[in-house]
Amino acid sequence: MVSNPIVKIEAIQEKGRIDRIKGMVTLAAGAAILGGYALHENAQKKDAAHTDTTSAPAITAVATSTPEKIREPKVKGTPIVPFVPNGKDDRENMISFNNYWEKTSLEALEIFRDADPIMPRLIEFTKQNAVYPVAQGPVATMRVLKDGEWDKPPSPHEFEIVFMPEQYAAKMRSSVQTEPDGHTMRVAATFQMKEWLGIILAHELSHIYALQIQGENPFSESEWLGGEVKAHKLEAKLLRHWNPQMYDEMLQKMAHITRTIANPHNEIDQLEEEYYPITSNYVGPREKRLAAASIVTSTSFDLARAQGATDENLKGHYQKIVQFLKSRPPRK
Ligand SMILES: [Zn+2]
Repeated sequence: MVSNPIVKIEAIQEKGRIDRIKGMVTLAAGAAILGGYALHENAQKKDAAHTDTTSAPAITAVATSTPEKIREPKVKGTPIVPFVPNGKDDRENMISFNNYWEKTSLEALEIFRDADPIMPRLIEFTKQNAVYPVAQGPVATMRVLKDGEWDKPPSPHEFEIVFMPEQYAAKMRSSVQTEPDGHTMRVAATFQMKEWLGIILAHELSHIYALQIQGENPFSESEWLGGEVKAHKLEAKLLRHWNPQMYDEMLQKMAHITRTIANPHNEIDQLEEEYYPITSNYVGPREKRLAAASIVTSTSFDLARAQGATDENLKGHYQKIVQFLKSRPPRK
């Protein structure tokens, strides 16, 4: 018998440490910095009414004002069926929540199993060590015992993937972040496309694996930058794996744009929407910011590598990309 099946775990908030290494809390400072890149709420709502792009009247109505929003992306994605709480029993709900996000996360990662040799290791590491507690606040989380036992045997490498409900996600500095100790990752629970979830999880898992297994020192700027380079090189591989032909086509256009235009914000917006599903018809606004940062950073890295950039060069390159992302105007 377990008298209190719900065990509350207060995560330790190491605010001082976190502040000292600003930007560490990942997805790349890039995504955090894309804060000014949010869709206007009204535009978002308007588009949500037109998710069925096969409806001719809806297309006509939207096309007059925002033609780029209804363009069908060339690369298809897999929508995520949202988690619906049963509304009856907290404990049952929490177990369902845990099971739902574990299944969804692993399915999202499996899409990319063959994209890079690190992926099977990251997937296995996640299967063995990830737990999916319920957020009780910006930091506190709660886990449920199943039949009096933890759902996974205790492990020194255990880490939390916390899917944050909107009330807490809205206060995060980025829609995804990993704590410097490598034992907690927080992800906004509003992902709508499995491929983007897989890519973003893989990026964060790359950090967790580096911090826990590969001995990355989170307080060394050089090692931290090296971790970002590694995570973004992985993202680039996953994007290409999603659709190699389309990725290479986009890469060529990106090369042309960046060679010929000084501040190609609009051109890059259009490319992103045309090739990978990041319009508001396909993804949520938080996911969209991450996706946009992913595409810019991935293509930029691949173009630099094609010109002979080393990992060391990419650290400086990464910092420039962050500046570029910071300068992007909000999307119309
Ligand atoms: Zn990162």
